[in-house]
Amino acid sequence: MVELKTDTSIDAMHEAGRVVGRALTAAREAADVGVSLLELDEAARAVLRETGASSPFLGYRPSFAPVPFPAVICASVNDAIVHGIPTTYRLRDGDLVSVDCGAELGGWVGDSAISFTVGEPRPADLRLIGTAERALTAGIAAAVVGNRVGDIAHAIGTVCREAGYGIPQGFGGHGIGRRMHEDPGVPNEGRPGRGFRLRHGMAIAIEPMLIGGGRDGYHEAPDGWTLRTDDGSRAAHVEHTIAVMDAGPRILTERDPVN
Ligand code: MG
Ligand code: MG
Repeated sequence: MVELKTDTSIDAMHEAGRVVGRALTAAREAADVGVSLLELDEAARAVLRETGASSPFLGYRPSFAPVPFPAVICASVNDAIVHGIPTTYRLRDGDLVSVDCGAELGGWVGDSAISFTVGEPRPADLRLIGTAERALTAGIAAAVVGNRVGDIAHAIGTVCREAGYGIPQGFGGHGIGRRMHEDPGVPNEGRPGRGFRLRHGMAIAIEPMLIGGGRDGYHEAPDGWTLRTDDGSRAAHVEHTIAVMDAGPRILTERDPVN
């Protein structure tokens, strides 16, 4: 069931979303060659603590997971697409990192992700990340009242495919509100004009995931959480929580630009 939020509730979600934006910025600012993924998690935890927010990731255990998620961020490096568990792994020159973070504040949840490089970037990684961001922008632009979920999916998928990238099937965006994952599902590829009709007050997370090698294959790592590309190529993942509103899509997890 899709729950429509009041404008007051969307304002409250925006507060949760701002915390997510700050936590992602903190994790990104902490990231450097030699820094461990656990240190990125600690940087995000500090923001949640300061703001009085809790983590919808920490202890999260969906049916597929062998253990509850142990951190407040997912940190997915290079061929890891999403759901990477922060470990003692220390970032190396040229790594591509995707950080996904959530926050719960006042009973409302925000969910957002960024991808970036550490040290000297590979040009191919910059193109991959840039395309992921363009796909996210296109998906958000399609999230207008009267459109359907398939229009968002089509907008995302078109940007990814035209650039020659793969899309992992079976994972994508979602409704969001009091819980992190609500109806409807928002796939990263689809047919325009199909699916749930968008209405004022819907809150959704839009999250393109791109595979650099161009094929869609992926598999679960032995930790039972991390999804990796089958071909070993690198992946990017970016996400915003947005509200569909009569005035147009409103991003609830915006963050300060980082150089
Ligand atoms: Mg997320
Ligand atoms: Mg999400």
